[in-house]
Parts: sequence; structure tokens; C-alpha cells
Amino acid sequence: KYLSKLLAAGFKVAICEQVEDPKKAKGLVDRDIVEIMTPGTATVETDDSPEPSYILCPVADGENVALAVADLLSGEFSVETLSAKRLIEKVELLLPKEILVSEEIDGDILDNLKTAAPAARMSYQEPWKFADDFAREALKKHFQVEALDCFGDMTGAELAAAGGLFAYFRDLKKGDMAHIRALSVQRGEDAMHLDAATVRNLELVRSIAEGTSHGTLLWIIDATCTPMGHRVLRNWILSPLIFAEAIEKRQNAVGKLLYDAVLLAKLREHITNMGDLERLVGKLGNEKANPRDLIALKTGLDEIPNLLDILSDMETPFLNDIAGRLDPMDEARGIIGKNIKPEPALRIVEGGVIADGVSPELDELRKIRFGGKQYLNELQERLREELDISKLKIGYNKVFGYYIEVSKGQTDKVPESFERKQTLVGSERYITPELKEYEQKVLSAEERIFELEKELFLTIREHLATFAGKMLEVAHAAAELDAIAALAEIARRKNWVKPEFTEEDIIEITEGRHPVVEEILGATAFVPNDTRLTSDENQILIVTGPNMSGKSTYLRQVALIVLLAQTGSYVPAQKCRLRPVDRIFTRVGAMDNIARGQSTFLVEMIEAANILNNSTTRSLVLLDEIGRGTSTYDGLAIAWALSEFLHENKHHRAKTIFATHYHELTALPEAYPRVKNFQVAVRERGETVQFLHKIVPGGCDDSYGIYVAKLAGVPETVIGRAKQVLSVLESGETLNRETVTRIGRHKGKTIQTEGVQISLFEPENHPIVQQLRDMDPERMTPLDALDAIVRWRKKWIR
Ligand code: ATP
Repeated sequence: KYLSKLLAAGFKVAICEQVEDPKKAKGLVDRDIVEIMTPGTATVETDDSPEPSYILCPVADGENVALAVADLLSGEFSVETLSAKRLIEKVELLLPKEILVSEEIDGDILDNLKTAAPAARMSYQEPWKFADDFAREALKKHFQVEALDCFGDMTGAELAAAGGLFAYFRDLKKGDMAHIRALSVQRGEDAMHLDAATVRNLELVRSIAEGTSHGTLLWIIDATCTPMGHRVLRNWILSPLIFAEAIEKRQNAVGKLLYDAVLLAKLREHITNMGDLERLVGKLGNEKANPRDLIALKTGLDEIPNLLDILSDMETPFLNDIAGRLDPMDEARGIIGKNIKPEPALRIVEGGVIADGVSPELDELRKIRFGGKQYLNELQERLREELDISKLKIGYNKVFGYYIEVSKGQTDKVPESFERKQTLVGSERYITPELKEYEQKVLSAEERIFELEKELFLTIREHLATFAGKMLEVAHAAAELDAIAALAEIARRKNWVKPEFTEEDIIEITEGRHPVVEEILGATAFVPNDTRLTSDENQILIVTGPNMSGKSTYLRQVALIVLLAQTGSYVPAQKCRLRPVDRIFTRVGAMDNIARGQSTFLVEMIEAANILNNSTTRSLVLLDEIGRGTSTYDGLAIAWALSEFLHENKHHRAKTIFATHYHELTALPEAYPRVKNFQVAVRERGETVQFLHKIVPGGCDDSYGIYVAKLAGVPETVIGRAKQVLSVLESGETLNRETVTRIGRHKGKTIQTEGVQISLFEPENHPIVQQLRDMDPERMTPLDALDAIVRWRKKWIR
């Protein structure tokens, strides 16, 4: 509990333990620091979260940066080279607990890292620990290889990053870290780069409102059975694939699993039994596995033959590959099965861990420790007879140990040699030399049992750790199987369809649905919509429509369907055909980043600039309003120019959907042939508007913003006034108090509040007020007064 708190607060915690047996120590017991934990190098789970706990180590490489990434809990360890910009995106994506840098790191990189991961602990290390020779040796020694080539072609900076990070682990940990058995050099060409804004805007793994996974895409498709499967699926969503061949590999596996619902259910049941195998192997590698963890490990590994059995009927390249990696680990399972009791004590110090038949000495000691019952019964019988005390009892309690109990009425029969130990209300308790000797034997046997079991357990665990690398591979394979089975399960439950990949430059979705909104509203309430984006006709879709009509939902739905398709998942639509996109960009909503000193509008423009600079003709761009954070004319000007750029610049002709309230943009198709107007249909009924949520061709010139404001509960007086102001703006006159009073009169006078007519004009200028001033009520007849009222009503109220 304290460790979690300290680590969460960013502290470095030294774990100090007694390193010799206190009973054998002369004088002070030897203590030593056995491990140092930092937020990113904790080797015990400090919360219940299945999310990875990353430590990163970036090393500059000219314009680029090499980044090593590790998760000690699961044994993940990788390195890659990124542009400085991509580094920031990646750091934002990984949400690291800690970042390790050289003491001489470039100040700009450091500042960027700090803003990208404000919650991460920054740790510093001497520059020589990143040096080529040192890094190479550290890695070679750990992986026990002659050359590092087996991990792929690493650059010098990548070597420094991975080696530097490893040196840091070495400084902190005494153990072997046996579960870190591979260093994966990632080249990332086959995965899509999603920038942090897009990950956030599309609410892939974390909702904007609550910051949790509820209401996110992951929440919808996470039918995984284990935390390790959850991590894989999360990873897949955050790095969708970009080549049809690789996507189809996953897709076909989903299809295969989907085909037989009974088999899928069985497979998922077996996977569920595996638990978080990855973290269990991590515990083994971190020397933190307790006896029950080893049994859990065996239970998990025991499922492998069952998985293989099911997979043998399912021939697809992806599933074959998984089956190939699912080594049954017979030897390791055998070791656990043979040596550890099936239901061991939780802690090693309590004994009751090592199975019978493992150690003759242990078996002998156990006989003494537990075989005493018979001996004690015999002794009790003998004493009863010899002393003629029929109710004599031999008992045991923790404070006094063994005793002979005789009730008060019979104590005169007790011989001198009995030593009195304790007096109770109705009886006396005694000890004899014989019983004392027995007690001594039992106690020392117990002590030795604990000692021996601990020794044996540690040796077994150490032996098992030599299998950790292989076990981790197996766990990864099982985790991937869990993730792919989850995609199949979701496709089955929700009746999603298999997207089709084509060489044709198109994104075509029939009856697409937004997976999250649909889940929340219910399938029948959601209105599906079609999408057709092509490079030659429908490259840019301008979507106009009232507030609240469903523009944003539509935009995100297209993005999520494409993203799901490229993850290998089935999609919520009736039909979907597309050429994989290379990137998805979104510019959605307004949000400032005060921590980074960026205003709302600046953030908006940074996101826009990113899109304009990095999108290609193969990208999908979704713009949900642009330029709203500045004056109307500036915003409109930017929005127009940006649309033109995406249309005209042949390197950036991304397929684009642009939702906007700038109705002026609906004029774009007149000049640009690949721009098309769409609107969200509404039905007007008198003063009310019905949202149909249906996307239809054409542009719309009314946002019904005031209507939505009314729905939201903005006071009637403000709504009425807004209507007046709107009528002035629509008339083309200059907006000022006079014009609002004059031109807006018509709109303002029908406003009612609690049945009383109110004027929204300034009272002193109102004609009624003028007339009231001119009246003399004392000289008026009631009929005159009534007449005036009737006139006013006629003139001012319809
Ligand atoms: P604004 O212009 O104010 O941002 P918008 O047009 O972008 O509004 P959305 O936020 O997309 O509107 O949608 C508003 C609400 O309408 C959603 O929260 C959802 O409840 C409902 N909605 C949107 N699309 C659909 C649909 N296709 N079927 C049913 N309900 C929908």
C-alpha cells in the first residue's frame, strides 16, 4: 500500500531486507538493499490496472531520436527510431510512468518530453552508461549472446537507448530479469501512426469527458478474456495496419473463429483459465512469484494443449502462426506439478508448499511434525491407565506449548515428577520431561521444514526462471489469440460485416453505424448512413446541418469504421469496401492546452498544420469545424483556403469529410469538382425541429443554433433577444442597439414568460410607455382604459 503511494508520487523506493537468518546472526542481523523501485521499474503490481507500465529511454540521433521502451511487469522490451515529432506523439500515446535520460540530454528534447508526459518521473543517468561499448556489453551479457545482430540491425543510438536502459535496471535490481529475453527492434513501416490528437478525438481508449475507457472504442470491442489479451487489443487499436495483406491475415482468422460459435466459446473458456500469464511470467522473472503464482502459471500453461487442439481444426496463416508459438512447455509444467503442492500456502515462510516425495529429509521431518498425533494418543492412554485418571488430556496451545491437563478433583493422583505449568478454574496443566523432549523435537522439525521448504522453493523458482523467455513467447501468442477471438466474438454478437479491401481508391460504407453511439442509444434508435469517398469524384465532402443533427457522429463513425477495418476487425455496417488508408487525421472540437501555453485557437491551428503537412493522397482527414476559435471572417477564410489546398495540392489530396457551420463553404463545389455537399436532414414543424440524422446530398443554410440553445434551457429572454439580433444580421443592416430595436421588433414581441407579455426593448423608449406618460388615469373612464388596452393588444400582440 505504501509502496504504491510512494511510487505514484514519483519517489524512488529502496527495499531493504534482512539478508541472513536472524537466528543464526551474531549481533546485528545483516541487512541490504535488495532492490530499488522507481515508478517505471516496479516489479510488483501497484494497482489493479491491466495497462502496461512503461519506462522509456530516448537518445538523440541527429534529427531523430532512438527510443527504448520496457515494461518490467510483462517483460516487453523494444527499441525504434522516431522523428522528434513522432517521439512526442509516441510518448503521449504510451503514457509512461518514467523516462530515463542522459544527464547531458538536449534541453529542447527534455522540455518536449516533460510536456508530453507531465505525470512521468524524469530520471537521469551518467552519459557513459549510454556509451557504445558499455551498452553493447550490458545487453550481450544479459541476453547471453555473442553478437546483438540476432535482434536485428540496431543503430548506434538505438543500442545506446536499449543498453542505457538496461544499465539502469542493473543498478536497481539484483535479480536476473529472466523474463526479458528479447529485444525487439521495431521499424514500424507496417503500422499506422496515429497522432495523440486523433487518439484523443476519436476516443479510442480513453474518453474525453471522464478519462476512463467507458464509452470508448476499446470499451465496445474489448471482449478479451484476460488482461494480457486486453493489452494486445489496445495496442492493435492504437496502431492499425496499413497493408491489406497483413490486415486480411487477421481478418481471416476472425472469420474462421466466427464460423463455429461453439468452438469459439470453448476456446475463450480455455483462454479465460490462463489468466494474466504474461504478468505471471513477469513475476517469475522479477523473482516475485509466490507458490500460488507458480500453480497459476501451471494452470495457465496447462491450457495450451487444449488451445492447440482447437486450433488444429482452424487452418489460417495467422492461427497457424499462433499455434506454432504455443509451446506446451511440458518440462516447466512438469517441474511445477512434481514439486509444488496443488494448493500451496500463499507465503513460502509458512511451509506447506513443496510436494511430498521431493526431498527425503523434508518427508522425514513432516512425519515427525505431523505424525505425532498417534504418539500423543498413545501417551495419553498410557498415563490414564498408569495414574488412573480417566479424564486426563494431552493438549497444545500456542503460548504454553504441549501440556497434560487434569481436572481439579484428581490432582492428588498426579506424581511429583509432573511440573505444574498453568492453573485454570477447573483444572491444572502440567509438563513432563518426556513431553518436553517431544515438544522440542516437533518444534525444531517445524523450523527446519520452513527453512528447507524455502530453500527448495527458491531453487525450483530459479530453475523455472530459465524457461521464462520461452514462456513469455507463449504468453504473447496466447494474448494475441485472446485478442483475435475477442474480435470474432464482437463480430458475432453485433452482427458486424467483414470489410473488403480493394486496389480501387475508395472508401465505401453502406449503412455504417457509430459503434459507441449505437451501443448507448440502442441499435433501433440509431440511423445508419452511407459514405462514398473517392479520389476522382467525392474527395471532399462538406457536411452542413443543424447543431445536434449528427455531423460529428457521422465523421467519427467513418473514422472508426476505417480504423476497425484496418485493425483486422469486422465493422458496424452492412457493407464496407476500401483501400487501406496510410493515416487518419482528425481535427475535432476545441480544447486548449494551458500546460503547454497554447490557446484553444492555437491548438486548433497546430492540428490543422499537422494535417496539411503530413496528409497524403492516401490519408483520411476528418475536420469537425475549423477556424471556430477566431473571428468569423478569419475562420471562414482559413477553412476555405484549407479546403482548396486539400483539393488542389496533388501531394495532399486526402479523402476529407469536413463538417461545418460555415454555410458559405457550400459554394466550394461550384469551383472545385471533387468537392460535394451533404447535409443532415431535418424536418421543421412550426417552431420545432426534428433531427432525422440522415446524411443526404445538398447544402444547408440554417444551423438552428437558437433552437438548440432553447432546448438546452437558455432563458427565454436571451433566446428572444438572439432571434432579434439574428433578424438584423440577416437583413444586412449594421448591428447596434437601434437596429435591434427597430428591425428585431417583430421577432421579439411574441416572447412570453409565465404568461405575461414582456417587451425586450428598453422600456423608456417603448411607444406604450410614451402613451402611458401622456395619460391621466384619474380623468379616464374605465371604458377608456379598457379601450387603450384593447388597442395595445391589437397593435402589439398577435
Ligand atoms: P454540433 O454541430 O452541435 O456539434 P453535431 O451535428 O455534430 O452537432 P452530434 O454531436 O454528432 O451533432 O450528434 C448529436 C446527438 O445526436 C448525438 O449525441 C446522438 O445522440 C444523436 N445522433 C447523432 N447521429 C445519430 C444517428 N445517426 N442516429 C441516431 N442518433 C444520432
